[in-house]
Amino acid sequence: MIFSLSMEKETLRLRLWFLLPLACVLLVTVLLMVMAIHRHANEDIDRDAGGAATRAEHLYQEEIDSSADMLGAAMEVLATDQGLRQALANRDRTQLLQRTAPLFAELKKKYAITHFYFSDSQRVNILRVHQPARFGDTINRATTKQAQRSRQTTYGVELGPLGTFTLRLVMPWFAADGQLLGFVELGMEIDHVLRKVQHIGNTKTYVLINKQFLDRTEWEAGMRMLGRLPDWELLPDVVVNNQAAEDMPKELAHGLHESLLAEQKLAEYVQEGTSAYRAVFLPLKDAAGNSVGRMVLMLDISVQVKEIKALTRESILVGGIATVTLLGLFYWLLGVVGRRLERDKLLLHELASRDGLTGLYNHRVYYVRLDEELIRRHRTGTPISILLLDIDHFKLVNDHYGHLAGDKVLKTLSKLVMHSCRAIDIACRYGGEEITVILPETDADGALEIAERLRKSIEAQHFELGESKSGHITVSIGVATSSESLSSSRDLTESADRALYRAKEQGRNRVECAETDRSIMPEPS
Ligand code: GH3
Ligand code: MG
Ligand code: MG
Repeated sequence: MIFSLSMEKETLRLRLWFLLPLACVLLVTVLLMVMAIHRHANEDIDRDAGGAATRAEHLYQEEIDSSADMLGAAMEVLATDQGLRQALANRDRTQLLQRTAPLFAELKKKYAITHFYFSDSQRVNILRVHQPARFGDTINRATTKQAQRSRQTTYGVELGPLGTFTLRLVMPWFAADGQLLGFVELGMEIDHVLRKVQHIGNTKTYVLINKQFLDRTEWEAGMRMLGRLPDWELLPDVVVNNQAAEDMPKELAHGLHESLLAEQKLAEYVQEGTSAYRAVFLPLKDAAGNSVGRMVLMLDISVQVKEIKALTRESILVGGIATVTLLGLFYWLLGVVGRRLERDKLLLHELASRDGLTGLYNHRVYYVRLDEELIRRHRTGTPISILLLDIDHFKLVNDHYGHLAGDKVLKTLSKLVMHSCRAIDIACRYGGEEITVILPETDADGALEIAERLRKSIEAQHFELGESKSGHITVSIGVATSSESLSSSRDLTESADRALYRAKEQGRNRVECAETDRSIMPEPS
């Protein structure tokens, strides 16, 4: 029972030492594996999103340039009209309107041109063909100013007060003598460009305009005019400027807000219900180079996110199964090793405790066990006695029958002593042919009785002495019992030794009790 308990303890300790670190290592490995899978999958998504962003940027620029080419071509045709040139030089609004009104209708229909201006050399507007009632104001847009500065045709995207983007192309017109007559401007809304960009990846797209470039009242009125529901407060620094603004859920707006604050080009996942998006931000610059807003492509990555989740679940499952299998295998192996170790340990302990010749406990164990018993006695108050037994004239046995015969006698004697002992008694080979017996819970009377019984049984025993010879031996026994004054193993043993000496002195084959006059002599045979 004790053996199996201590064995379980040893196995348990082994298992704890190995399995705990192993479990930690395996768990960390699974964790790292899952993280690596996540990282790779996210990198893939980022790469896709980055590709979409680049494609969208190129497409936007290409579309703007080709639209500008178209405006340029229309402008070239206009520039050849000498009548218009003359009318501009004369600042003749009626003439200008008459000549351009039908042309504008055609341009609007054919090329979606929505703006058509004539301004004088000081950029003061002479005629808005698309809105003739409004004129006389100075045109302060970047494209016009640049055309004035460079004296060349200029184009660029301009943000209107309603938050709509228009592509404008401005051409300075000169008289034959090189004198600046004024500026002609053609413009078109770029919704078609934005729509084309939206088709990249077939995603939702939002146009965000920085509030600093807008007047709230004007913008809100404009949005209502266009039949849209304006929400100036939806996002902190920007407004959402296309139709989709009304459908933009609050959680999506929140996700965008965070990314806008961090000024990222790619937003983290933006979750909307069961769909996941990666937002790609494209800067929208006006002709003056101002960052007036951003276009947000919402790339639908729901499938990829689902795949990542499935992959994560699978790797956790596989990693978990591998971990449990490995731990189980090691658990079993360590059980086998633990039991073997414990058996070896017990065997070693046994070998180190026993005397090789007699099988009795050795001198070291004698003192260890005696000390233990004395400590126990101290607690319980019960006495302990010891016997110190020495063979009489053993030298003669060796001398007459040889050392091997002597050894045999020692073995037989030890067996006899062991069999005469109670289960709680501890018989040890003290040294040479001296044997000690620890008698726990035994007072002096009890010890004397046991010693005498032992002495008699030895005396009566036939000992083999080799070559079918046998004979008798006798022993002298010193007895000592613990007391207040005899409480250490050394004192007790010395006391028993003195008693043994007395027994020898008084003729051998007798039992002597220490520090008392009590002795037991052999009855005359
Ligand atoms: P006494 O009655 O005074 O004890 O006489 P004795 O001859 O027994 O004297 P003592 O106890 O001093 O002698 C011990 C002898 O025991 C000496 C040694 O030869 C013998 N002896 C000790 N150990 C062994 C052993 O392992 N084997 C054998 N064969 N003899 C041993
Ligand atoms: Mg002797
Ligand atoms: Mg001796």
